[in-house]
Order: sequence, then structure tokens, then C-alpha cells
Amino acid sequence: MLKTNWHTHTNRCGHAVGTDEEYVIAAIQAGVKTLGFSDHAAYHTPRPRSRMDFELKDDYFSSIRSLKEKYRDQITLYLGMECEYFESEWETLSRYRKDLDYIILGQHDLWLDGPDVYHPFTSDQVFEYVNLIEKACNRNFCDYVAHPDVFMWGYPGVDDTVRQAASRLADISVKYNIPMELNCGSGVKYGMREFQDGMRYAYPVRIFFEEFAKKNCPVIVGLDIHDPKLFTTDEYVDRALSVCEGLDINFLWDFDLVSAAKERKQQFR
Ligand SMILES: [Zn+2]
Ligand SMILES: [Zn+2]
Repeated sequence: MLKTNWHTHTNRCGHAVGTDEEYVIAAIQAGVKTLGFSDHAAYHTPRPRSRMDFELKDDYFSSIRSLKEKYRDQITLYLGMECEYFESEWETLSRYRKDLDYIILGQHDLWLDGPDVYHPFTSDQVFEYVNLIEKACNRNFCDYVAHPDVFMWGYPGVDDTVRQAASRLADISVKYNIPMELNCGSGVKYGMREFQDGMRYAYPVRIFFEEFAKKNCPVIVGLDIHDPKLFTTDEYVDRALSVCEGLDINFLWDFDLVSAAKERKQQFR
């Protein structure tokens, strides 16, 4: 099991199970030394089963902070969030940026309750998705890009649009020195399925990691965990790693994301 994981959910998002403390205990038992919580950001518009309600965020903050104290001798805990870059929510997002230890960018939708990655994007929407990631990085809003290839969940297959998106994401990673994630969540959990380019996991998708390898982008493995029991298995990590077999990836193992976040926060705008 990984010693460090920055991508951890809680039951507040409505599609994760277990208590906060169960995640912490399971992580300790699995040998995790640094655990960052990054539940789906709360916005003023609720969306049950997809993100936490705005009223729950204070409980989330205080629960993780108190567990941090309680288990300080056994594990180092940090409080983050998985946010989208939504200009309409900028006031809320700016607060999170300032108050939290770190932010990971998981751009699931093009705008609040707009088109999402679970339905096929058009080419233009793929490029808009990449533009949003670039804007977030340019403003130093986030500390790593979660599942940069997540739109492949709904997209029919690897084509020229995807190749261009992969190349642009690699350029963004280099330009802003921002880590890209190899995600071990739903994309591998639900197994391989048939796409226009053949049988594979929905994400991670190899073409992205070929680009990341070619341009020496920093890559962080993220569990994207929604169930404490999954700390006990390496199955999903192994599946994700199998996607980039043979590639010379610049993996950042045990990267101190919070120190990097402190520096980025000073440039946040
Ligand atoms: Zn989730
Ligand atoms: Zn996530």
C-alpha cells in the first residue's frame, strides 16, 4: 500500500461509505503515514450523491482537524478538498484555497451543474475542459490535477482530440510544475470495457501517461478512496500502474504536497 495518499473522500459526498475515523484507522493499519482528506467540494447549489452539502463543510473541517490531533502519533493527517474550477463559485473556492492545507482539482463538470465527464463531451467540450484546468493552474488554485483523463469515462475513444488534450495537459503540468494524478478510483474499480480503441479501463488512459512520460511531468498516485476497506488491497493501485507499464514516469512518491501548497498559495490570485 502507498505510504502517502492525498485523495480521500468521506461519506458527506453521498457516494462514499464509512466514518472519518474508520478511514484513519484503516489507513494506519495499512501502513499509510500521510493521509490527506479531499472530499468533493461543497457549493451553494446542492447536488446529492455527488458532493457534500454546504451545511456539512464545517463538520468536515472540525472532524478531520480533531482526528489529526487524536492520531498525531500514528499518522499525519491533512485537510483538503477536491474542487472544480468554477468561476461562478469563486468566492467560496477562494475561501477553501485560503483555509485548507491543499486543493486537488477534479474537474468533473464544465460549469456548476453543466455538462459532466460521465456523458460524452464534444471535441469543443474536451478543449474547454483542458482550458479550465489551465486557468486553475494559472491562478495557483490547485496543488495537483486529479484524474486529468477523467472525461474518458464518457468519451467514445482515443482520437485526435484526445491526443491533443493529452499533449496540452502535459504542457500545463510542465509550465506550472503541477503534478498529474494516476487515479486508482472508479476508472479501474469497475474494470475494463470496450471503447472505440479497444478494451481498457475508462481511466487512467495510457496516451496521457505517454505524454507525461515524454515531457517528464510529475505524477502522483492517488487512491481516490470512497471506502475504508480499500486501504487493505493493492488491487486498484496495481491496475492503474499496469496502464503505464514500460513508461518512464516521473512518479513523486511521498511528495510533500502541503509544503508545495504553501508556496502556491502565496501566488494564488
Ligand atoms: Zn467521488
Ligand atoms: Zn475524488
